[in-house]
Amino acid sequence: MELNNTSVIVNKEDKDMAYVTPSGGLNLRKAVKPGSVIKVLRKGAEVDILEEQTWLKVRTKRGDVGYVSADFIDQDPIEAEVSSSDSQPEQPEEKCDIQRYQNTRFIGKTLYADTDFWPCLDRLNQYATACEVSIYVTSSAREPGKTVSGNIVKPASRSNHLIGHAIDMNLQSASGFFNSRKLKKSQFNRLPKEIKQFINLVRDDQEMRWGGDFRNEDPVHIDDSFNVRYPDLWDKKLLSRK
Ligand SMILES: [Zn+2]
Repeated sequence: MELNNTSVIVNKEDKDMAYVTPSGGLNLRKAVKPGSVIKVLRKGAEVDILEEQTWLKVRTKRGDVGYVSADFIDQDPIEAEVSSSDSQPEQPEEKCDIQRYQNTRFIGKTLYADTDFWPCLDRLNQYATACEVSIYVTSSAREPGKTVSGNIVKPASRSNHLIGHAIDMNLQSASGFFNSRKLKKSQFNRLPKEIKQFINLVRDDQEMRWGGDFRNEDPVHIDDSFNVRYPDLWDKKLLSRK
C-alpha cells in the first residue's frame, strides 16, 4: 500500500495526532506487516504518529506502540468525534432487552444477549476477525427461575448469563477446536498463537473478563463484569425480565 497525500490530512493545531477510520477497527502491529497484531484499534481511537511511511509507527492513549497502515488513519478529528467508543461508556438501561445477536465470527448455538452487551460482542467479533478465530457459542442468556405465580426468584449469586451479559464459548481456528479442557489456564502456553492472542485481546478489553482468570476457573466464559460494576442495575435488569 502506498502512502498518498489524500489519506492523511494534516491538522495544523494537532500536527502529530491522528484517528483510526475503518468502522471495523484497525490492527496495531508489533512490526510492519507481517508483524503480529498487538490489538485492534477501534474506529475513532486516537494515536500519536511517531514515524511516517506507508506504515505509520503510532502510540495509543494507553501507551501501546506499534504500526498501522497509513491508508486507514486520518488526522482530521471529525471522524473520531462521531464515534466516541473510547470515551465514557453510556449508562446502561435498567431494563433487559434480550435480542438475537449475529455476526461473522459467531457460530454454534443461537446467541441471545441484552442490547447493552452488544458493543462487547461487536468487539469480540473484531478480535476474532483479527486473530482468524471463530467463536462457537454454547450458552448465552439464561432464563431466571420463577415461582408458581410467575415472579422471578432472585438467585444466590448474580450470574451475568441471567441478564444476557455473558457467553460460554469454545474457540475454533485453523489449528483445531478448543473446548473447556483445552482452554484451561494451566494449558494456556500450549495453545496456538491465534487462540492466545484472542484471549489476550479479551483480557486487555476495558470491560470484558475471561473466565479462565476467575478464582473458580471457567475458561469458556466471557462477560462484561456487569454484576460487579452495576450490582443495583443488575437487580433491576433481572426483575425487568418477563
Ligand atoms: Zn458462563
